[in-house]
Amino acid sequence: MTRFSVMTLFPEMIDAGLNVSILARAIDKGLIEINSVNIRDYTDNKHGRVDDYTYGGGAGMLMQAQPIYDCYRAICEEKEVSRVIYVTPQGKPFDQKMAVELSKEEHLVFLCGHYEGIDERVLETIVTDHVSIGDYVLTGGELPAMVMIDAISRHITGVLHNEDSCDTESFTDGLLEYPQYSRPEEWMGKKVPQILLSGDHAKVSAWRHKESLIRTKDRRPDLYEKYIESHPDEKI
Ligand code: SAM
Repeated sequence: MTRFSVMTLFPEMIDAGLNVSILARAIDKGLIEINSVNIRDYTDNKHGRVDDYTYGGGAGMLMQAQPIYDCYRAICEEKEVSRVIYVTPQGKPFDQKMAVELSKEEHLVFLCGHYEGIDERVLETIVTDHVSIGDYVLTGGELPAMVMIDAISRHITGVLHNEDSCDTESFTDGLLEYPQYSRPEEWMGKKVPQILLSGDHAKVSAWRHKESLIRTKDRRPDLYEKYIESHPDEKI
């Protein structure tokens, strides 16, 4: 059982966003556990405040250290923590490799910022990883935490129906996935490629690999170049 604890000011967002479809089934089966914790419940401030002005001036408010640290301590008391991830545009870019690596941990804690961010001192004290989901700025860390939890969960044994489906997906071998088709054989005059109906597994597999190469070269030349460096004979 992998536990994801999410320190947030909006736990209802995490609960609503992750308790659906494949992840809801994984929760039911006891494969993963989503523990959303409201940072506001831990503030010492009698008015329930969790943010204040930044020293040195500047626009916007900053989340304070005390409620976050006490929230973290409470989470640690429930189950030993493997890593504490602060989702931030200043972090290492999240990718499939990181998702696979993190899927091996037992208890991941996500810290979601808001407003202008979080007091640096608590980040220095509790955070093990700074991770970004892309070079743009969002209003809060909840969506990035949900994106990461979704991507990580797919690599936990039993979460996906077919264990193979992760293996052939985009990024697994450094390429994007090939195009896929379902019934009917012809739709709006467009036919399914004949080779996919042939029943010849070796030919289908070779066709898919070639299509993966073509698609990656076209849509993600950066990935294609990297792949070709280690597979020069596959250059198209
Ligand atoms: N002032 C911060 C800066 O310039 O780096 C941005 C703060 S942002 C408005 C509020 C919060 O949203 C951040 O503390 C972080 O938790 C989250 N966030 C925003 N963009 C993100 C991204 N691309 N990846 C991960 N988290 C992000």
